Order: sequence, then C-alpha cells, then structure tokens
Amino acid sequence: MRAFDDPSVVLSRTRILDRFLDYVRYDTQSDETSDTWPSTAKQLELGRRLVDELRELGLRGVGEAQVTMDQNGYVLAELPGTVPGRVGLCAHIDTAPAFSGTAVNPRLVEGYDGGAIDVGHGIVLSPADTPELGQCVGDTIVTTDGSTLLGADDKAGIAAIMGALEILVQEPDIRRPAVRVCFNPDEEIGRGAERFPMERFDCPVAFTIDGSFTGEISVETFSADKAVVTFTGVAVHPGTARGKMVNALTWMGKLLDRLPMGEAPECTDGRDGFYHPIVASGDAASCTLQLILRDFDTEVLVERGRRLERMCAGLMAEEPRLGVTVEITKQYRNMFDVLSGRPEIAERLEEAVRAAGITPRLEPVRGGTDGSRLTELGMPTPNIFAGGVNFHGPSEWISTRVLAQSACTILNLVQLFAEYSLTKTKGIRHGRSPTHREPGAPAAGDLRAAAVAR
Ligand SMILES: [Zn+2]
Repeated sequence: MRAFDDPSVVLSRTRILDRFLDYVRYDTQSDETSDTWPSTAKQLELGRRLVDELRELGLRGVGEAQVTMDQNGYVLAELPGTVPGRVGLCAHIDTAPAFSGTAVNPRLVEGYDGGAIDVGHGIVLSPADTPELGQCVGDTIVTTDGSTLLGADDKAGIAAIMGALEILVQEPDIRRPAVRVCFNPDEEIGRGAERFPMERFDCPVAFTIDGSFTGEISVETFSADKAVVTFTGVAVHPGTARGKMVNALTWMGKLLDRLPMGEAPECTDGRDGFYHPIVASGDAASCTLQLILRDFDTEVLVERGRRLERMCAGLMAEEPRLGVTVEITKQYRNMFDVLSGRPEIAERLEEAVRAAGITPRLEPVRGGTDGSRLTELGMPTPNIFAGGVNFHGPSEWISTRVLAQSACTILNLVQLFAEYSLTKTKGIRHGRSPTHREPGAPAAGDLRAAAVAR
C-alpha cells in the first residue's frame, strides 16, 4: 500500500480547496416540511455541477455509460478498479435547515496564529470555546462571514472525495478496487437513505464522509424507536363532572412526571440512552404524546419501550376508565449491530486513519446517520471525518489541512479494500440482539471494550 500521510500533497496536487469554496456557495438547504424529492429543487443545481465535474475527471456511470443524477437527486459515478472488488464513498449535498445557507461567503484565514478570529456579524471563534482551533495553528482556516452556516457539513465530504478521486486518476498504478461514489440529497432531514439506489450502487461496504474533526470515525450510532401514546378519557361537562370525568390531559401529565428524569437528553451524554417527549397534542377527552427512545444497545432500547408500556398499564390500573395505547415504531438501528459481525471493516478504517499519520478517535454518534440506515439495508457504512467543526451555524469552520487529511484517509482506505468482497448481509430485523454475531467473530462487547482501550 502506498500511504498518503501528507495533506500538503493533496492540497498542492488537487483542486480540493477550490472545489470546496465553490460548493459552499451553492445554497443547498433542505426542507423537512417539503414532500417533494429532493426536498428542495436548489439541491439539484449542485448535483448537476457534480455530474459535470465527475465526467471531467473521467469517471463513468453506475449501470450506465455516463455519470448521471437520478430523478430523486442522487448522483452516482464509478472509477473503475485496477483489481477486483468495490468500495462506496458517500457524502450529502444538502445543508441543515437550522441556519441560513443563502449567499455563503467563505473567508480564508491563512497561517492561523492561534488567537481569536472575528468572522463578522458578532461571531468570534477562539480556542477557548473551540479547542480544535488550538490544534490548527499555522493552518489555513475557512470560516463564514457570520451571517450563514458554512456548509462544510457536508461539502467538505464531497470535496474530500473529489480530491481523492483526482489523485487516483493521476496515479493509475495504485492498487484499488472500483470506487463508487454517491452524492445524495436530504441527509439533514433524515431522508438521505430513503431513496438511495441500493441495487444500482451495489457495494459490499461503503463510507459516509460526514464526520467532524481530524481522526474522528464512527462505527456506532444510536438505535432509535418512536412511541406514540394515546390517552382516552371520559368527557363530561365540568360543572357536573364530579366522580364522572376522566381528564386525558391530567393522565398524560402523570406519565410525563413518571419518566425517569435521569434518563432525559438533558441529563445524559456519552453512552447513555434516553426517553425524550417531543410533541403533545389534544384535549381533555383525548390526547397524544409522542416520544423518541434512544440507546446504543438495541436490547436496552427495546426494554425502554416495554418499560413505557408498563408505566401506561400502571396508569390504567389506577384509573380503569382511562384508555392508554402505546404504539412503538422502529426508526433506525445502531450500525454496530451489523459491524460487530464484520470487525475487519472497522480495523481497516482505523488502519487507514493511522496510515494518514493520525490517531483514530472512535466516536459513538448520539444520533443516526444515513449510514445507520444503509448498514441496516445490507451495506455496512461507517462514518469518517471530513474536517468541519461547529456544524449547523455561523460559527462553522474548517482547516484545509484537516480537509486534505480526510482525502488522505480515503486514499489509504480504498487501497486497504482492494479485492475486498463480502457476502451480502441480509439486513437486520427489528429487535435483533446487538450481541448477535457471526461464528468466530468477537462479541460486540469485546470489540467495544477494545475500542475503549485504544
Ligand atoms: Zn452531515
């Protein structure tokens, strides 16, 4: 393997920075209230641009001659391999609805001196608030002008993939499997995997380039369920209600009060899961409470649902005229449920980071990624850092050195997956035990312990 460990080589030999500065100027904000595909038509403009750039690089289509974007806004391309095998690289086109992505005006701070950066509009970045800045003295830092987000999430991921592709095109002798690329819309509103062209993409393993600072890799996300609890009371005129009325709202309040406060998002971090009430609606006769349930351990998550059901059964035992139903639906599953049975994937990923001269940091994601869903659908898809810091707001910034390190990691990774193939995993079933494993593979707990020990 030829190790890429010098980000300055990527910066000088590719257009990675120019591309990044170009991509962030496209307004690609997604919209969770939209029911079109993609959620906003403006994402298609950057999609078309990327189709052009992939063609210019000489990539071909996937399942067709030319690189194209499908009707849902997914851009697919392939760089043929020099050896058998396939590996997928994914990044998302959209930016978060949480903050404006209109007229992004990126600013460059060259030779960062370690002090505070006044980016404008009252936004000041300093190593005191953002310790990562302290690790970037001497780097070129790209910031916003304080009025928009930057969109390094995830245009840095797109630029890192394009930069790596440029090097691979320049160096046809590097041993590599076919590299398939997917740039997808609507990750920020949780729909990125929904219309993912899985059958056409057809990779035994893929990576989202959508993480934050240098060295960060993720093979674990939350497992997630949603619960809808419906309370049906007895409606009576309040003037004559004594002994007759059962107020659904009152009983919903009792349930809220009985949720363990220590297991709320505001009281948990690290590896702890939670109950999180998100929407309440209705009236005294009938009302509904929506909650999201989260845990890294899928078995514990399922038990959370059962505990909620027991609490509701307890309310009905106290007031037999009250009706309470609980409907729990699966949202996504911890990718580690699958990856624990494929330990070689995380091992190669860590090796790729180390070969880039970086210490890998295994960060469990307290949320889901497109990769959680893709992994569940049968394509193991861990996440790799792209460089951006302070996502989804005007304080977002990136060091171009770290951006290039992401490209280095991709170049190492692609080589490590030369001739890699694996039998398709079937995808996991609801409630599957996280300790499920292939014969001979280490138990989930073993690999987790190993990850912590590192
Ligand atoms: Zn992202």
